[in-house]
Amino acid sequence: MTDPRDALAAVGRSFYARGWMLGTGGNLSARLPDGTFWITASGVPKGRLEREHFVRMTVEGEILEAPNGARPSAETSLHQAIYAWSPDQQACLHVHTVSAVVAARLHPGDLPLPPVEMVKGYGIFHERPRVCMPVFDNPLAVPEIAQAVRARFASTPPDVPVFMIRDHGITAWGRSLNQAFNRVEVSAYLLDLLVEGARTGVEW
Ligand SMILES: [Zn+2]
Repeated sequence: MTDPRDALAAVGRSFYARGWMLGTGGNLSARLPDGTFWITASGVPKGRLEREHFVRMTVEGEILEAPNGARPSAETSLHQAIYAWSPDQQACLHVHTVSAVVAARLHPGDLPLPPVEMVKGYGIFHERPRVCMPVFDNPLAVPEIAQAVRARFASTPPDVPVFMIRDHGITAWGRSLNQAFNRVEVSAYLLDLLVEGARTGVEW
């Protein structure tokens, strides 16, 4: 893939339609072969992304291309943290879903995921897999969250390719944009399932 912006715009339309990127919330990025990445600009509607709604940056945070003076997403530091932690990751997608917020309220600390078939969507092939989604607090300054992610992942790699920010949303990544897309869907399903399970009294 040389220019991922059209594919990212398609992801934005899909996620927006499902209510995961309402009110300009969330952000999407994908890398180029040179390691730089395109990320959605700040304050743009994710259901109607055009090529000029993206900013190209280095993993260190230098802005290389900013059409019409666009500013990078306020949450760019989360993407930088993932790309710096794992150079193999080619895409990073951050969404605000209702179930993510509710699910994190069900349990203190990291979130144990239901041990169901869908966990295989993360590439985890165990019978009744017991894995946790890392959960981070949501201070106003997003770089503080990014720093917490960097510090934790440097010593303790996560069970799953997604992390949660409490009262906020989830961020998933992958070795391709398609893989990251699938992982957001898998995560949304699992978090919906946790919420529905709590509502109906299911014990995992
Ligand atoms: Zn966010």
